[in-house]
Amino acid sequence: MKLVKLIANLGYGSRKDVTQLFRSGRITDAAGEVLYADDVVPLETIRVDDEPLDPPPGLVLMLNKPLGVTCSRKDPGRIVYDLLPPRYSVRSPALSTVGRLDRDTSGLLLFTDDGALLHRIISPKAQVAKVYEATLAQDLRGDEGALFASGTLLLESEKEPLAPAALDVLGPRHVRLTVTEGRYHQVRRMFAAAGNHVETLQRISVGALPLGELPSGEWRPLDAAEVALIF
Ligand code: URA
Repeated sequence: MKLVKLIANLGYGSRKDVTQLFRSGRITDAAGEVLYADDVVPLETIRVDDEPLDPPPGLVLMLNKPLGVTCSRKDPGRIVYDLLPPRYSVRSPALSTVGRLDRDTSGLLLFTDDGALLHRIISPKAQVAKVYEATLAQDLRGDEGALFASGTLLLESEKEPLAPAALDVLGPRHVRLTVTEGRYHQVRRMFAAAGNHVETLQRISVGALPLGELPSGEWRPLDAAEVALIF
């Protein structure tokens, strides 16, 4: 793909805007040499206004989603895309969340512009483990682990029982739950089905990829080895 189109697709403006960036000498190589639109150079050497070019298509990143932001693009309130650089909202192919977290759920949220990868991660067939920590309104009864592991739990208004899920009890009202599906409000509805109520919910890992020490509201790109941890 021609450099002008590629850079325009990364959200730097229309092709006309990017052509103008070249003409005004704002696109250079790592040594500060001005580049021309038909130069052939490795993308990682390109600078725009002396800043490295944004990552090319195939981007995967993680966000530590804070409470109170939604995963929708249309919500009139705060949305997760506002926590990324503005250019990332106008890239082509578009960057999308990999599944969703509720407004009141925090933690590990993935984004990618790779549609095939996105579908591979969210496909029920892939059985990618999603691990959540939750605090509960009431003490556990004691039978929740067996109920969730049974593979027979039917959520309200659903026809298919949930796949088995693993419960680790961390305290009387504090649990870690590993699920392999991504049904609507799944964790909250599982505890509602067990007569309890989820007060706080955080996703701490996807596959073997942990959220780690990433501060709330911050994001970072993943390298290939980290992406491989998801499966
Ligand atoms: N389960 C829920 O109930 N909410 C989430 O955000 C994720 C899983």
